[in-house]
Amino acid sequence: KNKPTNPFTQEDTLTKIYAVVSGKGGVGKSSVTANLAAGLAARGLSVGVIDADVFGFSQPRLLGALGEVPTRMDEMILPVVVQDLKLISIGMFVQDNAPVAWRGPMLSRAIRQFFTDVYFGDLDVLLLDLPPGTGDIAITVAQELPAAELLVVTTPQQAATEVAERAGSLATMTGQRVSGVIENMSAMVMPDGSTLEIFGSGGGASLAEKLSATLGYEVPLLGSIPVDPLLGSTGDAGDPIVTSAPQSVGAQALNAIVDQL
Ligand code: ADP
Repeated sequence: KNKPTNPFTQEDTLTKIYAVVSGKGGVGKSSVTANLAAGLAARGLSVGVIDADVFGFSQPRLLGALGEVPTRMDEMILPVVVQDLKLISIGMFVQDNAPVAWRGPMLSRAIRQFFTDVYFGDLDVLLLDLPPGTGDIAITVAQELPAAELLVVTTPQQAATEVAERAGSLATMTGQRVSGVIENMSAMVMPDGSTLEIFGSGGGASLAEKLSATLGYEVPLLGSIPVDPLLGSTGDAGDPIVTSAPQSVGAQALNAIVDQL
């Protein structure tokens, strides 16, 4: 019997692969991933999402697929179709939202299985929501998907950029390309038009600068997404803001980033 193969492993895969990473949790990495995916799908691209954030999987909720389970077909697993895209999440394989308490090797095996056993078909874009930091999963993804490019999400706070920089410079070791920095939770636009820098400012630009220096090529700041309460509430409702409230400040910033991918 043929060993299952990973269709995305070849360096010359036609699928554009983005791994969305962050230095720490809570910076909006998952919300950004869900919205980039929904935005790309809304533009008519064939999009897949792998939620590999084992300890904080949230794509089923963010994309409105809570409780949906993938279909098994012979040896293959068919991803859940939602928001015009294909989603597979580690959360679809645990009982009752139980926390995942696997050790490194088990995690790596589970992720590898996502690449080989899940049938996505031809994809234009594959987005991976990775756990924060530089752990086993990030390294497995780097080994299995050398063509994956990193999108580094950070808040504007200087302290946050330092941890994000570590996640980004892992790319030096793995040989992966960093395609850009996304600043999230930037200045909130108040009803009177003024702005409030809740989480500081300048972090995205300074992270992009530092990564460019470390990696030896230009890592652009792809955009800054303001604090927008709608981003949170639409996420909770499983209706990505890019499609459900395109006029909002959050959606406009996200869509401007989608246009650069
Ligand atoms: P991570 O994946 O980095 O842990 P999440 O995407 O889960 O982060 O976001 C953490 C929390 O912040 C969520 O409650 C989310 O709704 C909220 N959030 C993320 N980005 C924004 C934003 N730009 N404005 C307002 N709330 C946001």
